[in-house]
Amino acid sequence: MKIGIIGLGLIGGSLGLDLRKCGHIIYGVSRKESTCRRALEKGVVNHANINLSSLSTVDFIFICTPIGLISQTLKQLTPHLNSEAIITDVGSVKTSIVKECELLWPNFVGGHPMAGTAEQGIEAAQENLFKNAPYVITPTEKTSKNSINILEKLAQSLGSIVHTCSPEIHDQSVAWISHLPVIISASLIAACSEEKEKNILKLAQKLASSGFRDTSRVGGGNPELGVMMAKYNQTALLHALQGYREQLDEITEYIKTEQWDSLEKLLMITQKERSPFIQLEKSSENNS
Ligand code: NAP
Repeated sequence: MKIGIIGLGLIGGSLGLDLRKCGHIIYGVSRKESTCRRALEKGVVNHANINLSSLSTVDFIFICTPIGLISQTLKQLTPHLNSEAIITDVGSVKTSIVKECELLWPNFVGGHPMAGTAEQGIEAAQENLFKNAPYVITPTEKTSKNSINILEKLAQSLGSIVHTCSPEIHDQSVAWISHLPVIISASLIAACSEEKEKNILKLAQKLASSGFRDTSRVGGGNPELGVMMAKYNQTALLHALQGYREQLDEITEYIKTEQWDSLEKLLMITQKERSPFIQLEKSSENNS
């Protein structure tokens, strides 16, 4: 298939590497000439250009720009498209993007490959990024079955595990397990860094090990992406933050009032409740 990828960064570049390996011809478009050159050098794409008109003959397009540019990019793209072309995006938030994009192009289907690293840009592109990772497809009643089927097959060819749900359910779910953790993790780093005693702060930095590395990882990622998640998934994220705040208040109260039994009961419950959230991690450990 002739596949277009717009936005040759971490996600777009990684998609290019794997889809090329599957035998597709990849037409890349990025904002900077230097990124296009680098994408050709790295073997991410077969052709690269800064003009959207270079995608006039492709069958399928992934829009991989930052979230705030996805529907704007589609608007600029539509005059150049062949009428059968299927378009998807990879944005981490779906409701507002799908609403705007399906009005702009009838063969649009929303998607979210749930894989990433803390890096960004073309140099961060890597092979097998999507292997064993969830790929969420978010159709509406307007989405054509053909578009869903083709995206599903492409996602499966990357080694991803496909899930299908509405854009709204997607956004509420990822608010809990992706967007809330970014905000909590960033707050953890900010709170620790606020320690006024320089010698305590210095020693804490020296002693921080795997526990801190795990809990702070997502708070140390791409700031632009973090802001976009909050901006475009504001309602669901505020709902999740409220739930988190209530839990934190409850635990704080147990500690303040020395309710050690209640604290232990809660920690016994969370010890059990963690398991269903990390099934994917366990199954990829078993597969490796
Ligand atoms: P990224 O590494 O910063 O890549 C985005 C690329 O888009 C940039 O490298 C930039 O390339 C290009 N670009 C910017 N404006 C453009 C425009 N107007 N036209 C064409 N290209 C443009 O970001 P990313 O992490 O890949 O994220 C891209 C999308 O993937 C976002 O929508 C995000 O929500 C989604 N996503 C991210 C992750 C993650 O963990 N990072 C996971 C799943 C989904 P130039 O060098 O040419 O400027």
